[in-house]
Amino acid sequence: MSHHHGVVTLPADVVQRPGNLPRYCSRHGLPAVRRVDFALQSAVRIEGSRFRAVGGSGALGMADRLGQHGKKVRVVHVRSWPLCGRCNRTRVGWLTLAAIMFFGGLTAFVGSLIVGIVVDGAQVLAAVAVGGFVLLPLAAFPFARGGLARIVGARTSPDGATVLVENPSQAFLAGLPR
Ligand SMILES: [Zn+2]
Repeated sequence: MSHHHGVVTLPADVVQRPGNLPRYCSRHGLPAVRRVDFALQSAVRIEGSRFRAVGGSGALGMADRLGQHGKKVRVVHVRSWPLCGRCNRTRVGWLTLAAIMFFGGLTAFVGSLIVGIVVDGAQVLAAVAVGGFVLLPLAAFPFARGGLARIVGARTSPDGATVLVENPSQAFLAGLPR
């Protein structure tokens, strides 16, 4: 374990085996009310400009960038990470908002199309359909905020050998294996 600018580095094999992580959450230092297993990815910076320069934009350039993404992402399978009540409520809150936006948008879009078949010439319906259509992709933002990586404040290092935890709580630090 090393400590740099508020970022704590944990070996990947420590977090991949259950029972190694503290009983207190990494963000608030409160007792865990539940333990979660999840896949933690590394952050990826994709180099797109090079391909655009040689005329590889469009679908080909996109496929190339996606290929790079697949090669460069490292995943650590975290076992039994502690979540406190507050972490859990934050997560449920964002995911609930994402679900409301997604299903609300879908209902508005599909519903106004169906009603539009029955009722003729209602301008309002078109607006509702557009509103619903716009809302659908926006649901991705609260969905990302509710993701476990964001909730616990951790990511995998680019080489996949370690997990980086941002500004962990004192209680979490104290409970780490040394
Ligand atoms: Zn917490």
